Formats: sequence, structure tokens, C-alpha cells
Amino acid sequence: MAESSVNSKKTYKFKAELNQLLHLIVHSLYTHPEVFLRELISNASDALNKIRFMQLTHQDLADPDAELKIKISLDPKKQLFTIEDSGIGMTRDELINNIGTVANSGTLKFLEEIQKNGKTQKSDLIGQFGVGFYSVFMVTDEVIVETRHADPDSKGYRWISNGKGSFTIEEIDRKKRGTSISFRLKDDYKEFSETYRVKSIVKKYSNFVDFPIEIDKEKVNSVGALWRLSKDELKEAELNEFYKFVANDFEPPLGHLHLSIEGAVNFKALIFVPQKAPLNLFYDMENKGIHLYANRIYIQDDAKELFPEYLKFLRGVVDTEDLPLNISREVTQHSPVMAKIKSILTTRVLSMLEDWAKNDAGKYEKFYKNFGPLFKTGINSDFANRDKIIKLLRFESTAKPKGEIVSLDDYVSRMKESQNEIYYLSGKNRDILEKNPNLEYFRKNDIEVLLLTDPVDVFIVPSINEYEKKSLKSIEKADINLEEEKKDKDDTSENESLNNTMVESLIAVFKETLGEKVEDVTTSKRLVNSPVTLVVGKEGLDPQLERMMKMMNQEVTPQKKILEINPRHQLIKNLSRLNIGNSHDPILRESILQLYESALLIDGNLANPTEFIQRMTNLMEKATK
Ligand code: ADP
Repeated sequence: MAESSVNSKKTYKFKAELNQLLHLIVHSLYTHPEVFLRELISNASDALNKIRFMQLTHQDLADPDAELKIKISLDPKKQLFTIEDSGIGMTRDELINNIGTVANSGTLKFLEEIQKNGKTQKSDLIGQFGVGFYSVFMVTDEVIVETRHADPDSKGYRWISNGKGSFTIEEIDRKKRGTSISFRLKDDYKEFSETYRVKSIVKKYSNFVDFPIEIDKEKVNSVGALWRLSKDELKEAELNEFYKFVANDFEPPLGHLHLSIEGAVNFKALIFVPQKAPLNLFYDMENKGIHLYANRIYIQDDAKELFPEYLKFLRGVVDTEDLPLNISREVTQHSPVMAKIKSILTTRVLSMLEDWAKNDAGKYEKFYKNFGPLFKTGINSDFANRDKIIKLLRFESTAKPKGEIVSLDDYVSRMKESQNEIYYLSGKNRDILEKNPNLEYFRKNDIEVLLLTDPVDVFIVPSINEYEKKSLKSIEKADINLEEEKKDKDDTSENESLNNTMVESLIAVFKETLGEKVEDVTTSKRLVNSPVTLVVGKEGLDPQLERMMKMMNQEVTPQKKILEINPRHQLIKNLSRLNIGNSHDPILRESILQLYESALLIDGNLANPTEFIQRMTNLMEKATK
């Protein structure tokens, strides 16, 4: 195994986070110890993919005739495991940077998250971040990596570590190109040096790896490039394992798309939708979910050229005959072939989602709840498909219990004949929205209102403007078309409104008292049980958007709002009575300020509660005298 050292050994320290990561892996992956095998095979297969690609473009490679394969050697008596590939290998710097440190910022993010989410399924999280190589330390106490890069001038190196704090690197005399990784299994895991055990795992997890995998000289995998098979040849179990392999996931996918396109552009694709969104959908690692192949030769992991940003959660493989094999990254970026593939893939994925929405609502809902926040941003970036995406939007609604979602089509189908606008209200969550006084009129008149609880909604819904010729309106805006309320038969005099002169006179006092604090004061048609509410002028920002900008610490001068008063409310009537007696009555003036600040409080915009509380105490004192 170990070749003789020709140079002195150097010791390097792991970064602190790596120790933390190792600890986590050992303690959270113990239920899936076989994962290390999948990770090592996956790395070997990547390294072989890279060399297969280089062979087409570079003449000069170390060990040019080496067969491209993965060799696993086992020794159950000594509990030894070795995996060797004839892939691209690693330079000294690569050994230090790729194996010896947490190079991936996603991994650091993962560590932070895992600390925050103490209780979530750690194995799920680990799947999302692909901790890869380090998983071997679950089954062994010391790992030896010997490698030589494909560059003919390269040297061989041996890397040794116990995974706890440091590693050493020394130069060795190695003729073979590629990498060998060997270790002695801990007693608890000695099963992984048994041929039958390793064989069954490889068959299960890695059957489709496109290079021969030999275990003790016998080839065990059989399928190869799975995406080239026809639909009938594809078995679900294999598809699921293939997905886990490409997506680094533990769970099977939510659904998949298998395409074989011939025509102006030719390609085959296997595209998967995962079950769960990554922890941070918008950040989502380096966007490496889609592997691009040209004629079965792996080119790059890069979804960017194959899918628009809003679909970057997809995983899978695209294999085309129409790209030259020696294609570079710069060329793929500007290639018309890629642009065509991208447009076809996007349309097909949207059709698949439409099909789910129509025929398998549960599946679509699951998709939407996981990926909706990113998916819906397509409205503002993919204008060619904007209408399709709008149809695929879903919202909570006052017509449905909490948690259920409806489409704009559902909404429109329930609209009353007299209603010509689609109403929505945005806010942090359903419970807060339900209490918003601006909903009172709609509830009383049984008019459906969409409840926008996803923070992304306020960035996209206002841009829709119209759906099926009905305009979309926030019920927090001043200009909605509310019908003048018809008087209920059983309206008692208590519910009767103040007359216009009294209202106008009271509004004048409100305006005088509030001055520059408000844009205007008007009578409200939308209030039923509350005395006042704040709404935004026609050109104003959606209040939820304003709250979010504040949360993101953006400089926003709070926009002035319109205070609407409810002339049927007893408190407003009482104030009117005080106003008729003496428009400078201190209780009247204090009550106006108090009402205004209560509305600010509900709106989430009361900056200084001290005065509010003092005034309330004062008013209560007077009321209880
Ligand atoms: P990941 O595969 O997710 O990048 P790993 O921890 O498994 O993370 O591997 C880190 C890096 O080490 C790889 O990206 C690759 O650059 C390098 N590496 C690992 N195994 C091999 C191998 N067998 N041959 C060449 N490079 C390898």
C-alpha cells in the first residue's frame, strides 16, 4: 500500500471548524455508516470524469494508458479497505486545500445552521451540504491518501490523518496517476471489509456509475449512463439511487422528468425535483445541481447555463450530442446550443409542474411549499414564461382554512359578479393577518381576500397588476373600489353613521391634531368593528414591503399614511359629541393621538411606546374618576 517516502514529512493543522464538522459527522451519520462508501465512489467517479474530459483536450498526461476504473480491495482479516481510481489525482496544494480545510463556504453555513437547528434531522442537513470525504472518519481512526496528479511533471504525495486536528503530507515515489485511499476499519464497522457487504452496497448505490467498479477484481456495477436508457428500461429504484448520487440527498426525489429530445437540438436529460428545499433556498451552494455531459463525456457541474436562476433547485443530468467535446466554460456560456437546451428544459419543467398542479395537487403543494419562494421570482425574470408562472402561484385565502392554498384561477372562479378586483393583504403570518382591521369589510360582505404570508410575495404580486382582466389590489391601499354599504335591515340606531357635517367637522379636528403625521384623514368604508385604520396612498409601498425593508436595515423614511375613521363606531360618535361641545377638549385631542398611535402599533410602526402608554394611563385615570 504505502510507498516509500522520498521527502520529509510536514504537519498541517485543520481549521477549527473542521474538527467541529468531523465531530458532527461521526455523531449524526452513525445511522447511515455506509454513506462513506458512496462519497468515496462519487469522488473517484468525479476524478475519472475529469480525466476523460482532459484526454480529449490534452495530449500529455501522466500514465496515459491507465484504464479508467475504480478498484476496491478488501481484507476482512486485517479489516482493511482500499479504494483506488485512475482519475485526475491531486497536486500538493489540492491535497491541502481540498481535503485539509473546509474550503466550501456552504459547509460553514451548514455548521451554523446545524447549531441553530439542534433538533432537525442532522442526516438530512448533511445530505444537503455534501460533507463527502470526511465521512470516512466515521468508520476508521486513520486514513491514508496517496495521489498523483495527471500532469506528467507531477509528483506523488501521501496524506495521513486521524481526523482530529492535523494531517501530514510527504512526497512519495508514485508512478500511477490517480488516487488511492486506504484505512483500517474500526471494529464496529469491520463489515465494510467483507466482499458480500461492500458489493451489495455498491450495487445498490452506485450501479449506474459510468466507470467499471471492481471489488477484489470483479466488476460489480452494470448500468452505466442511466439517462441514455429508454423510459421502460428505467427502474424506479435505480432512478432513486441515481438521484441520491447526483443530488447528494438521502431521500428519493419528489418527482422527475426524463427527456429525449431530437430536432433542432439533440439531448437527453434526467431532471429531478428534490423533496425538500435546502436550508437557504436562495443561497443554495454553488449552483452545481445539474451535470452537463457531451456525448456521455462529463463536461461540468453547472446549472447556470441550463436553467434560469428560479429553477436552480433542480438536480440531474443533461447529455447532448451538439456540443464540441473540447468545449470550455466560456464557450458554454455563449453557446446557442445551450440557450436552446435551456429554453426547452424550462418549458418542459413548467409543463411538468402544470401537470402536477392539475393531476396531483398534493405533490404540487409539497413542491410549492418547499420551492415556491424561489420559483415565483421567475415572474420578474422570465418574461417568456411569466403567464405560466402566474398560473402556478398559490396563496392562502380567507376562503380556506389556515394552511390550504389556492390559485388565482380558484379565486376568480369564486368572485361575485359585482366584484371586479382581486384583493390581497400581505403580512407576517396568517394569525396577524386575520386581525387586520382592513379585513373587516371584506369579512362582513363575504368577499375573498388572498393572504400573502411569504415575504417574497410583496416583491412579486404588486407587479402582476392584472389577472383575467381583474386588477390585483392590496386592501391596505386607499383606492380600492368598495361599494357603499347597504344598510342592514336590523341596523339599530347604534350602528347608524354620523351625518356628513359632523364627520367633516371631526375630520378637521383629527387633521389639526395629527398635522404632518398623516397624509390625510378620511371616512372609512372598510371598517366594521374598529374605530380607525391606516392605509397607504395609491402610489405608496405595500406596508409589508416597507416593514421588510426596515427589517433588512434599509434606510426607509416611514411613508405617511392615510388615517381612515369609522363613522359608525361608538367611540368616533363619542368624540364627535365632545367636538360639538368643545373642539379643544383635551380628552378629544388625546384620544385622537391615542387612536392614531394604536393604528401605528397594529401596523408595526409605533417607534416609541412610552408616550403611548403615558397617554393611555392618563385617559384611564380620567375615565375611572
Ligand atoms: P466534494 O466531493 O463534495 O467536493 P469531498 O470532501 O468529498 O467534497 O472532496 C473534496 C475535494 O477533494 C473534491 O472536490 C476533490 O477536489 C478532491 N478529491 C476528493 N477525492 C478525490 C479523488 N479520488 N481524486 C481527486 N480528487 C479528489
